Parts: sequence; C-alpha cells; structure tokens
Amino acid sequence: DPRLQGISDAIRVIPHFPKPGIMFQDITTLLLDHKAFKDTIDIFVERYREMDISVVAGVEARGFMFGPSIALAIGAKFLPLRKPGKLPGSVISEAYELEYGSDCLEMHVGAVQPGERVLVIDDLVATGGTLSAAIRLLGSLQPQREAIVYPRRTSTIND
Ligand code: 5GP
Repeated sequence: DPRLQGISDAIRVIPHFPKPGIMFQDITTLLLDHKAFKDTIDIFVERYREMDISVVAGVEARGFMFGPSIALAIGAKFLPLRKPGKLPGSVISEAYELEYGSDCLEMHVGAVQPGERVLVIDDLVATGGTLSAAIRLLGSLQPQREAIVYPRRTSTIND
C-alpha cells in the first residue's frame, strides 16, 4: 500500500526514551500530519468495515487517539480499556507485563455483550503483552471469543 511509507515517515523515532535502549515510536507527529493521520484511519476502516465488528476497544492512552475515528467510520461503538482506578463502575481487570514495567487493563462489567465482535486498537505492539491482556479481558466475557490485532512494529533496539 503506497500510503504506508508516508505513515511510517510521519512517526518520529526517539532513541533511549523513556529508558536507555528503547527506540520510542512517537505517534504525536503522525497526529500532526493530516494526510498520514487520515491514511492511517482509512486503512483500518477499509480493512475492517465489512467484518461485522460492533465494538472498537481502544487501549489507554494511545488507542484512544485512533479507536474512536475507526469506530465511527465502521459503524461500531467505542469501548475504552482503561488503566486501573479510572472507571467509576464495577470493572473486570487483566494484569500484564510491559516492556518497561507492569500494568493492568480494566473495563466496565456489561460494556460488551456476548456474541459481539470486537476490534482492539492500540498504537504499537512491542512484546504483545498489552494486546494479549486486552484479548484475555474481552475473551473472559464470553465462551466464543475473537479479537483482531494489528501489529505495527517493535520498538527496542535489539528487535
Ligand atoms: P507491549 O505490551 O506490546 O510490550 O507494548 C505496547 C504498549 O506500550 C502499547 O500500549 C504502546 O502504546 C506502548 N509502547 C511501547 N513502546 C512504545 C513506543 O515505542 N511508542 C509508543 N507510542 N508506544 C509504545
């Protein structure tokens, strides 16, 4: 896809952030580039619009920057998967290891109904731990689970 190069070029790489050895992929520069931002959303919309997806789940925080636009364009709802302690209602949680640290994702009980097909959106996959936790969290709600992930690129120098 000829749009991918422009999208890749719009992502700034910052070495040794937030720790030595991490090549941080900074998507704030992509958000400031209208064509690259729109192309990113369009690619996801083209890929997923005919797949009967009723919920787009965005991982806090950068999944919130892409997920809602995709959700509206494909006719789906948006579900924020949040860091611990942010949601006011009853939650279910899933812990996971990060490339640098550990964390937890939470969602409100009852936010997704059994049988709904969910598209999980985040900005970047490194170890896959975050998206795996999102899949476990959503999958724990129903016996027949399905989630779709879209890895972009890894983010460590050694990768
Ligand atoms: P993983 O769980 O796959 O190891 O790490 C992915 C998560 O960490 C994502 O939520 C992503 O936002 C964040 N992350 C890790 N490395 C980077 C990076 O280089 N750039 C950005 N924007 N996010 C990162």
